[in-house]
Amino acid sequence: MTGVSQVTSKINEQNAKELDTEYFEVTCHGGARPSHQEWQGKVYSKKELETVCGLGTADGLCGCSCYHDYFPFIPGISERAYTDEELDKLKQEENAPREFAGKQYTKYEATQRQRALERTMRAQRQEIHLLKEGGANEEDIITARAKYRVTSSEYTRFSEAMSLPQQRERVTVDGLGTIGNGKIDLTNKDYRDIMFMKGNMTDVEARKWYLAHDKTIPDLIDKSKSVEEQAKQACEFRNQFRTQARELMADQDKRKQLDISDPNKSFEELVADKMQRKNLNREQAIEDVLNTATKTRKSVNKSLGLED
Ligand SMILES: [Zn+2]
Repeated sequence: MTGVSQVTSKINEQNAKELDTEYFEVTCHGGARPSHQEWQGKVYSKKELETVCGLGTADGLCGCSCYHDYFPFIPGISERAYTDEELDKLKQEENAPREFAGKQYTKYEATQRQRALERTMRAQRQEIHLLKEGGANEEDIITARAKYRVTSSEYTRFSEAMSLPQQRERVTVDGLGTIGNGKIDLTNKDYRDIMFMKGNMTDVEARKWYLAHDKTIPDLIDKSKSVEEQAKQACEFRNQFRTQARELMADQDKRKQLDISDPNKSFEELVADKMQRKNLNREQAIEDVLNTATKTRKSVNKSLGLED
């Protein structure tokens, strides 16, 4: 028992003595852990508080991070705050799972996940703080901020999906204020360095990232190789960047549509397609693949406001 709980428990027992009762009603609250849901909101004798509710143990009533309490109860006079039916209904509602990102959570599990996300956010803010204090380069600070914002946005979406209030004060208690704010531009970052952004970029951000990487393809190609070899490399790089950009998109429904409407083509498919569409022989088609390696689809850029 914590210090406060011990005092409350002494007072309760004193009151009970004065009220001439040996019974106690345990409080009831939402989001209680499953083992506490079993006994919350009911009436117990002093002995039962220990044997049923585990009073005095770390896992039991008034133990570690338990928010339950108990008060003297006079049978025939006192009225319970919750009937057995109400307690059953509450238990049923709380244990009805809700879904987030393909995973089911009971209310208790959801509050646990919320606390974990808050811990992650505190650690990420601390990291930004330490990087700043240590005079780290701006790029590292930007990455750290982006990581924090991904968690923060997940926290918002998760809390909404679970119908739980956000408790941001548990995060900002660190006194670091708006440390996560500031401009974030991940356009030129390597995919490996921003894997944490998977499923977190807007369509425009993902398209910008793709365009920036698409432009680097000519520099990535091994010019000592044959034209066909170079064209193959160009095709592979483009497919790689296209897939990665789609991985980064928050709108994965749209991504699935893109995978169907505008799928990656293998080198041979690309060559065959060009031969047919542009009426070229194989050699010309291969040259064309290499020449257009950095030509991005203007219509897509236009629809995203990236090009006039
Ligand atoms: Zn409890």
